[in-house]
Order: sequence, then C-alpha cells, then structure tokens
Amino acid sequence: KAKMEGRGTCRSFEPGMDARLQERRQLEAELAEAVANNQFVLHYQPLHDAATSELTGFEALVRWNHPRLGLLAPSEFIHLSEETGVIDGLGEWIMRQACADAAQWPLPVKVAVNLSPAQFKQQGLALQVAAALAASNLLPSRLELEITESVLLAHNEHTIRTLYNLRDLGVGIAMDDFGTGYSSLSYLRSFPFNRIKIDRSFVSLMCESSESRAIVKAVADLGSTLGMTTTAEGVETEDQYRLVKENGCTDVQGWLFGRPMPASDLPAFFEAPRALTV
Ligand code: C2E
Ligand code: MG
Ligand code: MG
Ligand code: MG
Repeated sequence: KAKMEGRGTCRSFEPGMDARLQERRQLEAELAEAVANNQFVLHYQPLHDAATSELTGFEALVRWNHPRLGLLAPSEFIHLSEETGVIDGLGEWIMRQACADAAQWPLPVKVAVNLSPAQFKQQGLALQVAAALAASNLLPSRLELEITESVLLAHNEHTIRTLYNLRDLGVGIAMDDFGTGYSSLSYLRSFPFNRIKIDRSFVSLMCESSESRAIVKAVADLGSTLGMTTTAEGVETEDQYRLVKENGCTDVQGWLFGRPMPASDLPAFFEAPRALTV
C-alpha cells in the first residue's frame, strides 16, 4: 500500500518506513480502544515453593487478543501503551481483573501483578490498588506487586512514598528481573522488598556457568540476610531446578512447572499441579 502511494511522489524516507509508521499509528489507535473493546486477557503462570514444589501462586501476564494480529505478547504493546498513556487504564483493568480472578480460586494462593514504571507517574496508584482489593474482596496478603529496577531509576521521593503506601495496604512488593538493570544492589537499600526475582538470564546459564551459579547463590544469600524470599525465574529443566534449590532460592517459576495459561485452564491445574521432586 505504502509502495503504491509512494510511486512518483517525492519522499524523504523509504516506503518501508512509511508502512511501518502507518502500522504503528494504526496499532496506537487500536490500542487506545482495546480496553473498552475487552481485547485484553490475563494468562497465569504458576509459582512454586522450591523446597516442596508446592503451588504458592500465579503471576498474571497480560496478552492482547488483537482482532487482526492474534494474541500479542506484552513486548509488542506494553511499551507503546506506556508512551501513549494507555497503560493507566490498562493497568487498572489488569489489577481489577487479577484480583477478581484470584478471589475465585479454590485455594488462597497468591496472585502476582506486574506494575510498569509509567504507572508510578500517576497519582493515586495505591488508591487504585486498594479499590481493586475492596471490589474483589481479596485479602491484601494474597496480592504481590512486581516492579523492575527501572521503577527506581529516577530515585524520586514520589515513587518511594507510593511503594510505602502500597506496602501499608498489606500487599507484597517484589523486585522483578533482578540483576538486569544498573547498580541493582543500591535499589535493595532504597526499599524493603518482600521478594527478589532473579532474572532468567542467570538461571538459564547455571548448568554450564559456575559464575552464574555463584551469582544466584550470592543473591539468594543476600535475600535471606535481608529477610526477602528469592524466586528463580525461567526454570526450564530439572537440572536447573536442582541447582537453584541447592543454591538457596526459596521459590521457582518457569516452564518446568507450567507455562502461562488462560484463566480457563486454572481449575484443572488446581486439581493436579505439577509436583516435582529433584
Ligand atoms: P516478567 O514479569 O519477568 O514475566 C516473566 C516472563 O518470562 C513472561 O513473559 C513469561 O512467559 C516468561 N517465562 C516464564 N517462564 C519461562 C521459562 O521457563 N522460559 C522462558 N523462556 N520464558 C519464561 P511474557 O508473558 O511475555 O511477559 C514479558 C514481560 O512483560 C514480563 O516479564 C513483564 O515485565 C511484562 N508484563 C507482562 N504482563 C504485564 C502486565 O500485566 N503489566 C505490565 N506492566 N507488564 C507486564
Ligand atoms: Mg514479573
Ligand atoms: Mg520477571
Ligand atoms: Mg524476567
């Protein structure tokens, strides 16, 4: 389409660029309507206790059920939603949906919800979370909020105050993807997290790299000293499971235990969670 329009006209950029720009504009317009059009869905990935392999909760992971493009992963729209401000409405929908879903589960396990840095720019994030808890009647102790180091990059007072307001609601706060940002350690000092989630990039190399094993052990020890639990992300094999357990991680998440699944699959999973002994 862009090619046809481009023929014979003077352009300062290549037609391919034009097409990409149009696609982006269209996606942006569709994204703005997607919450109202009910196009988002939450998938849930199980979280397990490392020692017993018992199910302890699920992480909510958002997908966009796009009418033209099919099911889109967060990497394809979260960034755009942050740039356009759509994340405010989307984030609120995610929080309400995740709390409402968890309140219906047959076991009182936790639900983990990711917060994007952009959500901390809005006023009243803690009020929004409080409202979602009240509307669903979910116990605050069953909700855990995951933030990445990028939330703390700005190091501003508003962010820290918001984190304390959230903690005062009685919800857990986890540091997600630990080790991938800059000067990770200083962030652990800026707020008393309940949990550190060690990024998959360290876990996936544990079998072949003694450095990765040493790093995972050091973070697990640090977490234990600071009174934080440590989740190993992206555990895909039994060898990795054994190693993260041996090196002190208290919790595990990854394809070995379960992939993110639609909410409709959860009843069966509650009936027969993956129990593993390594
Ligand atoms: P995350 O919070 O670190 O989520 C874990 C990601 O790792 C998920 O990808 C999950 O599918 C993937 N994963 C889990 N176990 C394994 C494994 O064993 N192997 C491999 N290769 N991958 C595994 P997903 O769902 O594509 O989400 C990517 C990121 O998008 C998330 O990273 C999170 O930062 C963001 N995200 C997802 N849902 C939301 C949301 O509701 N709100 C916000 N703000 N961000 C979200
Ligand atoms: Mg997460
Ligand atoms: Mg993570
Ligand atoms: Mg990660």
